[in-house]
Formats: sequence, C-alpha cells, structure tokens
Amino acid sequence: MGKKYIVKLDRESCIGAAACVAVQPDQWQIVDDGKVDFLNSKTDEKSKGWFVKEIDESELLKFKESAEVCPVNVIHIFEKDTGKKVV
Ligand code: SF4
Repeated sequence: MGKKYIVKLDRESCIGAAACVAVQPDQWQIVDDGKVDFLNSKTDEKSKGWFVKEIDESELLKFKESAEVCPVNVIHIFEKDTGKKVV
C-alpha cells in the first residue's frame, strides 16, 4: 500500500486564477463566487475553513503540479503519517 497524503485548500485566499483547473479539471472547479471548489473535499471546525482531502501516492504528482502552478500558493500538501509539508 502506498503512502497517503493530505491536500488542503485555503479557499478564502484563492483568487480564481484557474491555473489548478487547467492541470486537474477533475479536482478543481471555478464556481459562482469566482473561487475554486475542491471537488469531493471536506471542511470542518478543525480545518479552520480550509478544504481537505486525503489522496493516494498515485495522485501526488498531479496535485503537486496544481499546488506549484497556483500563483498565490493556497494549495498545500502534507504527508498523512508525519504531517510533513510536501508543498
Ligand atoms: S490556481 Fe490557486 S488561485 Fe487559481 S483557482 Fe486554483 S487555487 Fe485558486
């Protein structure tokens, strides 16, 4: 079994540049308020308004690309086990 990662979106700070959508149209979608929705993610008290999703190692490269093209760096990735920041 591969490693698990946690992807987090600080949606408040998204400026709707849609660079992430170009990389992963199946994960990000620009909606009416001009910001991006992180599809199939969750948010709760603990996430402080950030949207969170657990992903498999097989998805890591694509998400890394999304995080790296975001001009305001509001997509973050962490190792699930250690909490270590990947991007
Ligand atoms: S690339 Fe960044 S700023 Fe642009 S829509 Fe995606 S998350 Fe928002």
